Amino acid sequence: MLYLHVDSGLDSWRKAFHQQQPDLQVVVAGDDFDPAAVRWVAAWNPPEALFAGFPNLEGIFALGAGVDAFVRRDDLPADIPLIRLLDAGMAQQMVEYILWALLTVQRDFDVYARQQQQGIWQEQMARSMGEMRLGILGLGALGQKVAQQLAGLGYKVAGWKRSPLILEGVQVLTGDQGFDDLLKQSDVLISLLPNTTQTRGVLNRSTLGRLPQGAVLVNVARGVQVVDEDLLQLLDEGHLRLAVLDVFHQEPLVQGHPFWRHPRVVMTPHMAAATLPEPAVEQVLGNLQRLASGQEPLGLVRADSGY
Ligand code: NDP
Repeated sequence: MLYLHVDSGLDSWRKAFHQQQPDLQVVVAGDDFDPAAVRWVAAWNPPEALFAGFPNLEGIFALGAGVDAFVRRDDLPADIPLIRLLDAGMAQQMVEYILWALLTVQRDFDVYARQQQQGIWQEQMARSMGEMRLGILGLGALGQKVAQQLAGLGYKVAGWKRSPLILEGVQVLTGDQGFDDLLKQSDVLISLLPNTTQTRGVLNRSTLGRLPQGAVLVNVARGVQVVDEDLLQLLDEGHLRLAVLDVFHQEPLVQGHPFWRHPRVVMTPHMAAATLPEPAVEQVLGNLQRLASGQEPLGLVRADSGY
């Protein structure tokens, strides 16, 4: 029996499970079932103490790419596998979102929006894709696909990760020196890092200040990676041209936060890449099969790294 917890779209999730594996018993809060019969939980935004209610749990599926809501919890037994989604249709959505942000600055649509407000008719000198240097922080399941697709379009793409990797068409950097090099050469810095103790606050005055004058930040990872006050200062001082933000320290972003009305901030409500029930369920079921046959599941979260 699998217990399902999602914030929205419950019917689509149940339908996807039923269509793909009709014999799997899927239960949700409010159903009449014995908690001792639950062997698996598939969840997004799990409420506090959720896992403690199932004494015979064998594994947990995070219905998303980031697992920050699943790690460091008192109710998560250490010996139970935590398995997350790998891409599952999210990378393509990320490419689309980031491409929108890139075209906004490359073709000066942010400038034209301001000019329209001011009644100014003035053509800007647009750059070509090949003149734009992108720096992608995090080259994992999402970052790698984003990097390769954007490189394929002609952008100059570099990325930063912990372990070395050869990725065709993409300059891969590692370590502190690699981070510094990436910052100094990125016209657009894109974060696709997970939320860990190492990445919290990584986008601050010192790091963002090393970006070239007029650079742009795109944060589609997690809000806690940004020191908001530092970002606002760098935007106000004109060092940064624009921040495109999909994620925030607190979501929804509190009313009155300076980001809401800042002329150099473009905000979206954490929608860059949504979890799609059908490919997500396909991955969960594939992993159940792998586990049943003694194989390691794909997307197993390592306790030591927290992602
Ligand atoms: P992965 O875990 O597959 O990739 C993470 C990447 O970050 C890896 O390349 C990893 O390096 C690198 N990394 C981690 N820690 C460090 C560090 N301290 N220094 C340098 N590099 C580091 O994650 P995904 O690609 O699947 O997802 C990335 C994030 O995107 C998620 O954690 C989530 O927060 C966010 N997200 C946001 C969404 C939205 O709608 N806004 C939707 C989906 C995800 P290495 O490969 O060497 O281990």
